[in-house]
Amino acid sequence: MCEWCYKHGAGKKWYLNSKNYLEETAEAVGAHEYIYELWKHFEKVYLQKIFGISTRGPGYKFSIPVVGRAIKWYISSWFTKEKPLKGRSPRRAEGHPGQVVPLGDAQQVLELADPILKVNCACRHMTRGIEDPCCLAFGALAEMVPKLPRYIPERGAEQLHVDEAKDFVEKMNRGGRVNTVWFGPVPYIAALCSCEYPECAATRIRLDYGLNALYKGEYVAKVDFSKCTGCGTCASRCQFGALTFTDAMNRPFIDAWKCYGCGLCVTACPEGAIEMVDRTAFPALKDEW
Ligand code: SF4
Ligand code: SF4
Ligand code: SF4
Repeated sequence: MCEWCYKHGAGKKWYLNSKNYLEETAEAVGAHEYIYELWKHFEKVYLQKIFGISTRGPGYKFSIPVVGRAIKWYISSWFTKEKPLKGRSPRRAEGHPGQVVPLGDAQQVLELADPILKVNCACRHMTRGIEDPCCLAFGALAEMVPKLPRYIPERGAEQLHVDEAKDFVEKMNRGGRVNTVWFGPVPYIAALCSCEYPECAATRIRLDYGLNALYKGEYVAKVDFSKCTGCGTCASRCQFGALTFTDAMNRPFIDAWKCYGCGLCVTACPEGAIEMVDRTAFPALKDEW
C-alpha cells in the first residue's frame, strides 16, 4: 500500500475507500474552487514558468548537478500537497496528481463514484486542440463541466450508468489507454481517465522529467512462464518501457522497477500468463511510487 492508502484508505486501497468520493470530503479540501480554477486555466499548465522554467522542455535545467535535483524535488513536492488549502496553486495543478490503476480497480472505482460524466480530455485539448471524450468526471469535477463548455463533447455532456462506464473503461484499456485516478486535491477523487504517453501531461512530465504528477499503481506485473507461449502480443503494450520482448528467449521480460502496474499487458495476453502482484510484496519496491 502507498502512503495515501495508510492515510486515507481505512485498511483498503485508498481509491477504494468510499469516503474519498463524498461531498463532505470535497468541501474539506476545497475541491470545487480548486477544480474550477485549475480547469479554467488548464491551457497554461504546461506553459506556466516557475523560476523561469516551464514544464515544456525543462530537460537541460533539470540535468544541472545539485540545482536540477533541488528544482525537481521542489516541483514534485507540489503534488503531495494536502491540507491546508492556503498557499496551494491550482494553476500549477498542485495537489492534483494521478495514480495508475489496473482495469479491475478502475471498475471498482466506478461503483463508488456519482455522478459519472463523460467529458473531453483536458490534456488532448491542451496539447493537440482536439476533442476526445475519454475522461470520466465525478462529483465536484462533473459540476464544473457546464461552466466550461470546451470540456463538453459535441453530442453533449453524457451521464453514464455505472455499467456503461465500466464497459467504456474496458474498451479504453483494450485499445491501449492507461486507466488512472485523479485526485482533486488529495484525498478527494475527481476523475477516472484513459491516458497515454505522450499526450497526457502528467504521464509525460513523469516519464520525461521524473516529476511526480503521476504515481505508480499499487501493483506490478509478473509473467508465468509456464503459461507463456511466446506469441509476442504483449510486446508493444507497455507505455512505460517496463516490458521488453526478448527474441533470444522468445519470452517477455518485465522490469519491476519500471512497471507502473497499468495491467495493459495483462489484458492483452491471450494465455492469461501475466498477473498483477501487490507492489509491496517486493521489499525493494515498497517505496517506489
Ligand atoms: S489525465 Fe489523461 S485522460 Fe485525463 S485529461 Fe489528462 S490525458 Fe486526458
Ligand atoms: S509491464 Fe505491464 S503492467 Fe507494467 S507498466 Fe508495462 S504494460 Fe503496465
Ligand atoms: S502475450 Fe502472453 S503468451 Fe504472449 S508473449 Fe506475452 S505473456 Fe507470453
